[in-house]
Amino acid sequence: MKRIAVLGATGSIGQSTLDLVGRHSNQFRASVLTAHRQVEPMLALCAEFHPSLVVMTDPEAAVRLRQALKDQAWGGGIEVADGSEALTECVSRDDVDMVVAGIVGAAGLSAAIAAAQHGKTILLANKEALVMAGALMVNAAREGGATVLPIDSEHNAIFQCLGEQYRCFSTPSGVNRLLLTASGGPFRTWAKDRIFDATVRQAITHPNWSMGKKISVDSATMMNKGLELIEAHWLFAMPESRIDVVIHPQSVVHSMVEFADGSTLAQLGAPDMRTPIACAMSWPERIATPVSRLDWASPRQLDFEPPDHDRFPSLSLARDSLRSGGSASAVMNAANEVAVAAFLEGRIRFGHIFEVVSDTLEVLSGDATTVPESVEALLAMDVRARDHALTQCERRRL
Ligand code: NAD
Ligand code: MG
Repeated sequence: MKRIAVLGATGSIGQSTLDLVGRHSNQFRASVLTAHRQVEPMLALCAEFHPSLVVMTDPEAAVRLRQALKDQAWGGGIEVADGSEALTECVSRDDVDMVVAGIVGAAGLSAAIAAAQHGKTILLANKEALVMAGALMVNAAREGGATVLPIDSEHNAIFQCLGEQYRCFSTPSGVNRLLLTASGGPFRTWAKDRIFDATVRQAITHPNWSMGKKISVDSATMMNKGLELIEAHWLFAMPESRIDVVIHPQSVVHSMVEFADGSTLAQLGAPDMRTPIACAMSWPERIATPVSRLDWASPRQLDFEPPDHDRFPSLSLARDSLRSGGSASAVMNAANEVAVAAFLEGRIRFGHIFEVVSDTLEVLSGDATTVPESVEALLAMDVRARDHALTQCERRRL
């Protein structure tokens, strides 16, 4: 029995993970569930999975959940903790073998680092943690003896193509380059000025995947692929010059690895996160999922094209941040989180996201050249970047 802490249990990744836990309850138990403030969805998860511990990072939500559990005959054995410290602490429990890092954004960083320090198997979705703190995560995992198995679909595809050669944070031998595929998002065929004024509804309607709002906007700006490039850089210890991005609108090929001998291996499947999550949960075995199968009996087209850096500057920004080194990627990530939140709240236009991120990176990357030695030092830079980005958003306020 593998016991899992599902961080971000009420989110899109959390739901996909728990769907699999429910289908394979003889092999997996969700011993810990966490969420920010969604009480009703968490209560429903408690009824289904009976975790030992629930963490609500919002204390007021924890009070409401405790009360709601008291009203249930079955609610007695479920402990409810609150606050961000409880979130960081819950991953080190003895009844946690695997940690699904499914929190969105910087909020998931401390728990991801703690899981690495405590030598847990980390199923990583929270790419922002690696983008912000790649070097710290690598050190924490080495010292704690932790393994990171990627569940972001592209990185999971590469993990599958590498097979037994995969060691997290080590360069696999015999590999020439990694090819990350990208759907291109909802604005792939749009003209630049139309993209600038895209609405929230248009931006969060992804053509192939159903995901949380933040990553959906990131897919529309293609910052998601920028973040994934940085994620791949750390996870597979590859220089950015050996990681390419290929637009593939059908999202069937989830990524590829080009080897020294001229072979290119790809992983294919329907765009459903339950496949990469199942792969990591059961690794090195395989478990069944209800994910729809590719139908090869009818004609099918798979297209590939290069990304357009003029309409979508995010990839160049991400490469710039990696070349700057230090905590420049954390600066970029912070500015992006602030700008995406401002866009989702209707305070800035879609096109302003690129401007805010690019300006923040330009102004602060000179101060961010040293590799932060601690999470605290990193978070100080993160706060500075957020302040700068917020001012930039205010200047553009609608
Ligand atoms: P989501 O918005 O659907 O869910 C986010 C979860 O995090 C929720 O459970 C929420 O309660 C929790 N959360 C939010 N803010 C928090 C805070 N301040 N403190 C503690 N918990 C907080 O997001 P998602 O789409 O599931 O994405 C989660 C992560 O996985 C992101 O990093 C995303 O990039 C990555 N990812 C998602 C997908 C996908 O298909 N959804 C695919 C690949 C990678
Ligand atoms: Mg992805």
